[in-house]
Amino acid sequence: MWTNSGDSHFIEPDDVWTARLPKALADLTPKAVKDPDGEWETVSVDGQTFRRKLPSSAAVKFLEESNRPQGVRDPVARLADLDREGVWAEVIFPSLGMWASTFRTPELLKACMRASNEYALTELVSVSDRYVVTGQISTLRVQDAVEEVEWLAENGFRAVFLPTAPHPSAPDWNRDDWEPLWTALERAGIVAAFHIGTDPIDITGPGLGHVYRGPGGAVMNYTETTFSGQRAAMKMVGSGALDRHPDLRVLIAEGGASWVPFLGDRLREGYRQHHMAVRPKLSRDPKEILMTQVYASFQHDETAVPTMEALGYRNVMFGSDYPHMEGTYGHTQKTLEGLLADARPETAQRITQGTFRELFPHVPPAPASTDAIEG
Ligand code: MN
Repeated sequence: MWTNSGDSHFIEPDDVWTARLPKALADLTPKAVKDPDGEWETVSVDGQTFRRKLPSSAAVKFLEESNRPQGVRDPVARLADLDREGVWAEVIFPSLGMWASTFRTPELLKACMRASNEYALTELVSVSDRYVVTGQISTLRVQDAVEEVEWLAENGFRAVFLPTAPHPSAPDWNRDDWEPLWTALERAGIVAAFHIGTDPIDITGPGLGHVYRGPGGAVMNYTETTFSGQRAAMKMVGSGALDRHPDLRVLIAEGGASWVPFLGDRLREGYRQHHMAVRPKLSRDPKEILMTQVYASFQHDETAVPTMEALGYRNVMFGSDYPHMEGTYGHTQKTLEGLLADARPETAQRITQGTFRELFPHVPPAPASTDAIEG
């Protein structure tokens, strides 16, 4: 069974920025020097210097395992992984973008995002029309974001990666400052693709996704990453951004699907019961806006099928989360067989193919059977 994926990852080469930036800017990109004992490192980025404790060997091993297949760094080898897993087309998120929140010089961030996009265009997009590569934009300065969206549109990008919260020194997503960005994305037909767990990080802190310690820490930290995607969707609806831009579509990747009807209930209730305090007024029901303009990808969630069949949320798509350990790499077919065993044929078709193609109609349809591409 072929499926499309709304959630996949690629690791750019280490020199993707330094190879493309003028020296003065390249010198400001992140550099890390490990202490001889290997426990701490000194990181310099954009004129700031931080000391940070290196992750434990268990965490390093986890990360290495998580990025094991060659296709995560090699765009051509990647196609063989996709064929083996039965993944036809996929939304591909970047990896180096996590540094974006540590930059403070707008010109530097803008140049790095352009360098990443030029790399993506020449090395990834060009390899296969099965790759829907997310462009990257500055979230530090709105005008820079808008200009980059225009460049992305001219170069055929159909999705842009947005972190679940913008740069720490920029206004939040619900602020009107971002209105020109929503206008630009809607006009270009570019999907706003938020990936869960991408709130800006404090690189001096204990590390990505380490919010809790103590009993339950691991499962709580994993679960915690989910909520940032829900918050981003909430802001896009509550602020009226999606109401003002009815053709703008949002993807929340990796966060499951059943939260959407739930969040819609809460938005609707808040809008109705607190109407005297609600600004701005919306022209449509907030739950309807959420359920129609927001799309969600899931990997293992067993409630995804009933969310579509019983709760009426149709914008559900599978996402493999290739190659991460939370994802289905190595067992994609088995996972889908289990999840879709009792699904109606039209539900299975929409989750694996239709929802994705509604967002990205330019992507060629999957072959009718595996024989079609092997033959
Ligand atoms: Mn993912």
